[in-house]
Amino acid sequence: MTTGFYTDERTFWHSVGLQALFLPVGGWVQPPSGAAGADTPDSKRRLLSLVQASGLIDHLAVSSAEPVTTDDMLRVHTLDYIERFKATSDAGGGDLGGFAPFSAGGYEIAALSAGLAKAAVDDVLSGKHDNAYALCRPAGHHCLPGGSMGFCLLCNIPIAIEAARAKHGALRVAVVDWDVHHGNGTQAVYYDRDDTLTISLHQENCFPPGYSGEHDRGEGRGAGYNLNIPLAPGAGDDAYRYAFTSLVLPAIEKFAPDLIIVASGLDAGAADPLARMLAHSDTFRAMTAELKDLAVRLCGGKLVVVHEGGYSEAVVPFLGLAIVETLSGHRTAVVDPTLEIFLPQQPGAASLAFHRQVVDTLVHDWAASQV
Ligand code: ZN
Repeated sequence: MTTGFYTDERTFWHSVGLQALFLPVGGWVQPPSGAAGADTPDSKRRLLSLVQASGLIDHLAVSSAEPVTTDDMLRVHTLDYIERFKATSDAGGGDLGGFAPFSAGGYEIAALSAGLAKAAVDDVLSGKHDNAYALCRPAGHHCLPGGSMGFCLLCNIPIAIEAARAKHGALRVAVVDWDVHHGNGTQAVYYDRDDTLTISLHQENCFPPGYSGEHDRGEGRGAGYNLNIPLAPGAGDDAYRYAFTSLVLPAIEKFAPDLIIVASGLDAGAADPLARMLAHSDTFRAMTAELKDLAVRLCGGKLVVVHEGGYSEAVVPFLGLAIVETLSGHRTAVVDPTLEIFLPQQPGAASLAFHRQVVDTLVHDWAASQV
């Protein structure tokens, strides 16, 4: 079997300008003295470096990809947004709203980032690779058809899905978003459609600010095809695995997709500066293994993992490596040194029972909504 790995150095040159965490410098926000804000290239570049240094890269089919075209974008985005994005990028960069600034050339880099996801999906569907990982930057899952949001400038995954449908015909696609922030952009694109099951596990009320979405199930033909799983701050390994086995996997199985895509933010990791969860590398290893097995049973193993957020430069490489190791079936000699810190931090019995109760309630409500 082969695992495709899609990356391009140019995506690491995307810049959000000078920020402190996610705050633009100015007013009462002091310029940082050292590293810039949260969305730097380093977490992703260090993941690529670990894939290389560990030797895992020898077990992957590595390539870049062509940028997506305007036609690709317009299957998902409004013409007005694409024209404003291009003009602002050409004029030296700016911010079209929603906490998503970019510098000169941001348009071309975003098109390349989406192109990595498009190629990964196309190559898995055409049988070139069994599964794939797209190391996209900028991320995509907050971006709306008509506007940027949350470090996201294009809807990477929907653009990839719609390009695949244009080429390969009708496809049933399940998107599982385990980024700690809600996958609101993907939800918005597919909210009224029954050919795409969108599932988001996220920290309740985190981002978009104050949104949890447990009652938002889709509308029209899309009713029953959108599943939000808001978890309470502090949810750790057990809560994620419990949500997976009791809710995520059964929902995908019932949907019977032709392809499974993961919106793989790594900011549910225990040290992330933009959220408050306690997942670790074994959490992501286990969730990937579950989806890989499910994909083999349901859709010939067709599984594509698309990188989204994740802002702990030290920890993200170990989380991502666990995912790519699992996709490829090759375990390297790397031992995650953060596990001895994060394993003892997991919720105790009372907290663990609380987080399972949160999931049980969501399972009950989802089942009731399916009748
Ligand atoms: Zn995120």
